[in-house]
Amino acid sequence: MQPQENAEPYDQSDLFRLRHTAAHVMAQAVLELFPGAKIGIGPPIVDGFYYDFDLGADEDGHPRTFTPADLERIEKRMRQIIAGKFPLRYRVVTADEARDLFKDQPYKLEIIEGLLRGEFNEYGDDVEDMARAVENLVISTYRHDTFEDLCKGPHVAHTGLIPVDAFQLTGTAAAYWRGDQSRPMLQRIYGTAWHSKKDLKRHLQLLDEAKKRDHRKLSRELELYIMDEEIGPGLPLWLPNGNILREELEKLAREMEDAGGYQRVATPHIAKEEFFRHSGHLPFFAESMYPPMEREDTRYYLKPMNCPFHHKIYASKPRSYRDLPLRLAEYGMVYRYEQSGELFGLMRVRASEQNDAHIYCAEDQVEAEFMTVIDLYRRYFELFGIERFVMRLSLHDRKRLGVKYADDEAAWLKAEEIVRRVMRRAEVPFVEARGEAAFYGPKIDVQAWSVIGREFSLATNQVDFVQPARFGLTFTNRDGQPEMPYCIHRAPLGTHERFIGFLIEHYGGNFPVWLAPEQARVIPITDDHHDYARRVAAEMEEAGIRVRADLGSDRMGAKIRDAQLMKVPYMAIVGGQEAAAGTLAVRYRDGEQRNDMPLGEFVAHVRRRIKTRSPEL
Ligand code: ZN
Repeated sequence: MQPQENAEPYDQSDLFRLRHTAAHVMAQAVLELFPGAKIGIGPPIVDGFYYDFDLGADEDGHPRTFTPADLERIEKRMRQIIAGKFPLRYRVVTADEARDLFKDQPYKLEIIEGLLRGEFNEYGDDVEDMARAVENLVISTYRHDTFEDLCKGPHVAHTGLIPVDAFQLTGTAAAYWRGDQSRPMLQRIYGTAWHSKKDLKRHLQLLDEAKKRDHRKLSRELELYIMDEEIGPGLPLWLPNGNILREELEKLAREMEDAGGYQRVATPHIAKEEFFRHSGHLPFFAESMYPPMEREDTRYYLKPMNCPFHHKIYASKPRSYRDLPLRLAEYGMVYRYEQSGELFGLMRVRASEQNDAHIYCAEDQVEAEFMTVIDLYRRYFELFGIERFVMRLSLHDRKRLGVKYADDEAAWLKAEEIVRRVMRRAEVPFVEARGEAAFYGPKIDVQAWSVIGREFSLATNQVDFVQPARFGLTFTNRDGQPEMPYCIHRAPLGTHERFIGFLIEHYGGNFPVWLAPEQARVIPITDDHHDYARRVAAEMEEAGIRVRADLGSDRMGAKIRDAQLMKVPYMAIVGGQEAAAGTLAVRYRDGEQRNDMPLGEFVAHVRRRIKTRSPEL
């Protein structure tokens, strides 16, 4: 485990300035090459930058898009502007000057009016504190050469500081103006910029590797899941191979939870509207929920979370301090209406199965319980070889108490302090984010990086003092008095969907033996060896190994290639010599090979790997 490397915030770094300036240079190039273009916004982003443009409509009335040839021309013009070493000049302008400057740029005009009303910032993002935004309003621009943009910086001193061989336009995408599907569709150009050609090359290699590891692509090749338009977007169907991953993860979670004193429960997928009002999911969480269904004058909702169901189980009988902590666990299906534009493979779906549990405990037990949860996270991360992660502690925002957050600031502060103390004591790397909490308590999200450095948000964890109160949960304390328990929500593996999506990319499909849908494949050298192949497979199967004997009509070479494509950890090649000696020629997924391996020895080896959930072959 290592803390996050760069202490300097990205938006104050040299790379941020470089990329921000590259975005301006790109906008100038586009305006010169497409004189009628309207410009949207163009911020730096992780690893690069983009800018949004409106090129008007083509002959068929569709939005005109950028072609690869366009990108080449734009890049070429950018190099010329860079070579011009034009200084970036900052100036403050009045509202009227700004309106005049951008009189031909309707999107900029909209932003100027938004700025004046305190509604959004230069990037069109909504502002939380409008009064303060208006009070502190400064309208500023940055200008270089012929291009001037509504902008508060920062930038590099002159365009020549963008290394001419270390930037590249990487692609285009459609993007709605201000992310709103009812607004015009703009054309976004993505670019990346680095300090040196070497950095750029490394980045492009990583992108390439990420593409190869894309979980949607690998899932097709390895037959893990499918989506079916007729069923609906964001609703994955797990194929037999993918379902093995789910079951192995669930088995792991069950073992961990059994050892941790959890009890398993199961709850239905729907409940009445009143129930979700009671829990506060309505209205706080309404926009993420499916609309209700009605039957005999009663409205039902699909559950977006398992929590309130577990609260009911807690409340189903009187509890004493001796019963606490009470830990209820469930792999529960939840349904959330993600916007169409946000759906993404397994990463964002509309139905997902959560590795959920709720720990009910007395106030003086919260710290110890929370610590155990953090330890659980660490054990999972170690098992999966997740070396780089950071936890984000999301806090309430006092300005939104009663709107987004339960209205009890003292309780918020207390719960936040408990969580903060545990994180410090556990020496877990964490950052704090105000205004990102769940409506019922401070939340910890885990950002993890896969081995190739792609960032994922995986698990969540909350300390809840609101729902126990809403449900009137109590226990009888040592003094015989009723007391309210705290509730710790934890889902260290998040959802099956996202976690498996992460694992596919993390391992590049080369799952460790215990997870691999097919652990070994037996390949006979010729048809004469089918009997022995069958016997070998039967023996492995008996030993609990997921194995298949490939008795098809393909030649051995084709069978080996097929097993390689499916990333099977072991191939057991068998011919006359092996049959006579009761051995195997074992080919490992990484290319290693061992001949004359006694069958019993191989079986014992694979079983050991499975049992210890070893990352080794
Ligand atoms: Zn919960």
